[in-house]
Amino acid sequence: MAKKQFKAESKQLLDLMINSIYTHREIFLREIISNASDAIDKLHYKSITESDVPVSREDFRIDVKVDRDARTVTVSDNGIGMTKEDMDANLGVIAHSGSLDFKKNLEEGKDVDIIGQFGVGFYSSFLVADKVTVVSKAYGQDQAWVWTSEGADGYTVKEGERDSFGTDVIMHIRERDENEDYDRYLDDYTLEDLVKKYSDYVRWPIHMELEKGDMEETGEKNEDGTPKKEWRTHMEDTVVNSMVPIWQRDKSSVTDDDCKAFYKEKFHDYEEPISVIRVNAEGAVSYKAMLFIPKVAPYNFYSREFEPGLQLYSSGVMIMDKCKDLLPDCFRFVKGIVDSPDLSLNISREMLQHDRQLSMIRSNLEKKIKNELERLLKDDRETYEGFHKNFGPQLKYGIVEDWGARADLLKDLIMFHSMEKDKPITLREYVDGMKEGQDKIFYASAESVARAKQIPQAEQVRDKGYDIICLTEELDEFTLRTLRNYDEKPFCDINSNDLDLGTEEEKKAADTKEEESKDLLDFVKESLGDKVDSVKLSRKLKTHAVCLSSEGDVSFEMEKYFANIPGAPESERVKAKRVLEINANHPAFAALEKAYKDDKNKAKAMSLIMLDQALLMAGMPVEDMLRYSESVFKLF
Ligand code: ADP
Ligand code: MG
Repeated sequence: MAKKQFKAESKQLLDLMINSIYTHREIFLREIISNASDAIDKLHYKSITESDVPVSREDFRIDVKVDRDARTVTVSDNGIGMTKEDMDANLGVIAHSGSLDFKKNLEEGKDVDIIGQFGVGFYSSFLVADKVTVVSKAYGQDQAWVWTSEGADGYTVKEGERDSFGTDVIMHIRERDENEDYDRYLDDYTLEDLVKKYSDYVRWPIHMELEKGDMEETGEKNEDGTPKKEWRTHMEDTVVNSMVPIWQRDKSSVTDDDCKAFYKEKFHDYEEPISVIRVNAEGAVSYKAMLFIPKVAPYNFYSREFEPGLQLYSSGVMIMDKCKDLLPDCFRFVKGIVDSPDLSLNISREMLQHDRQLSMIRSNLEKKIKNELERLLKDDRETYEGFHKNFGPQLKYGIVEDWGARADLLKDLIMFHSMEKDKPITLREYVDGMKEGQDKIFYASAESVARAKQIPQAEQVRDKGYDIICLTEELDEFTLRTLRNYDEKPFCDINSNDLDLGTEEEKKAADTKEEESKDLLDFVKESLGDKVDSVKLSRKLKTHAVCLSSEGDVSFEMEKYFANIPGAPESERVKAKRVLEINANHPAFAALEKAYKDDKNKAKAMSLIMLDQALLMAGMPVEDMLRYSESVFKLF
């Protein structure tokens, strides 16, 4: 019979795995048991949601058996089983995204040391086995199937025998080599320890035949007439795991490390979470929850593919895998489990949405998550900054979404880059650091912090000793616009035309000078036509000759943002109102004044150059490069 090839990716993964993981081979057992448990979950779920599935909860079990002579370890379950098609589809490809992530990270050269610690799924059996046989009969089918593979070179599937529905995964253990003594995986006690270590909380009983010893009566009597006893051993069917899910256990009996290890396995992450939140609520609605804040965003987090949600259980039985209604969207990065005896098992998705208990849990969890993030911000700044780097955009999006309905929840959690401190700060920190007489929160929008610092208008603000926050992410400016103000301090774009920072005297002097220069300014405006909306003398420039400001509601960043939306017709684009500001104290202005008197053509060329210079400094494209260059040469 011809061997089928693994799908290309699986083959690569398999090679990589077998060759690169030397430690942590022992995780294979956890993976195979967790699949057995999933298979039982599926059948159990079927039995409670469909009427004609006569299996009973008490009968479900997982068996781990060792055959030293045959060198095999077999994990059996009486779960849902697999058809031939299931085997092809599930064992012939990398089925879960965890494995794909794993491969991606390997390819990107990320830390490979830790990979052995997270879920690599069914293929991990090849870490210890040189041949794996899967015998399975799907629930409701008559035919069993046998899948066999000796590793990367492919697999076969043929007809087989099995008494009842369920699956046996038979792993033929490798011979010892210089890297590893595989024989230890044929030892009952090693396996028992591994089950306890990694699979203790599995909800279904994991049975092993273990040797038990006891002092037993021999039937003879001692000299004093008491029954004679001797040490005898026998094999006994033993349930090895405690079966209490980790989130159901007493807080004191579960360490933070236990929870983190559980998270990595359950949610296929190779990084530890930065926080574990445990909730044990009693009252109007009782539930237990164990939530995790991941360290890094999954690669598809900011795409449609990412499915947020918490796992929902009712008294230890999973009723929904990704329950979206338990989390506000702004916290969609949170993973975890909620278990409530108050929820009905057969609850339908639509009903869930309107469930009152569910919405109580949700608002409670929302607070818990917020508190935990605030705690991190306060106690563990570095971790929080790392978190914000990954998930800050999600929080900001949460503010913009729904027109700020969640602003109160989020406004103290977001950060922006401080120009003065050169690190991320919160709005609270900005306001606390405001100077005497400062009544606004200044911000500069630019594509990078370096560019923001070069904005000519920044000078006057910083001269006053005021900090400026740099908005470099697409959503930053929308976020501030949605918030409008923080702690009653309005936000102020340093690019907007009047910052109102000068003294009364300075303002007066500027007004007088502007009055005097009216003809010249009109001339400049005329020379520039509709390229600008107005031309003014600047009240804020110090060393720079010109700058471009916006007037009104639309800022330059907004204009750029809308221009980047694909398909938006040119005519309907939002445009910022452009104000060309000229620094009357700059030699360039004197030169312009002189040219205006002596040589109008030259003055016109200068006007055009001034505008183009201002555009360049604002990080905006110069409309006509050729004309720009020609105007410059006209001055020679
Ligand atoms: P994952 O468990 O994350 O889906 P695995 O590589 O561990 O990925 O398993 C791949 C798939 O193989 C499972 O999703 C399941 O469909 C199937 N499978 C594995 N073991 C069993 C089993 N014991 N019973 C039924 N199906 C199984
Ligand atoms: Mg699995």
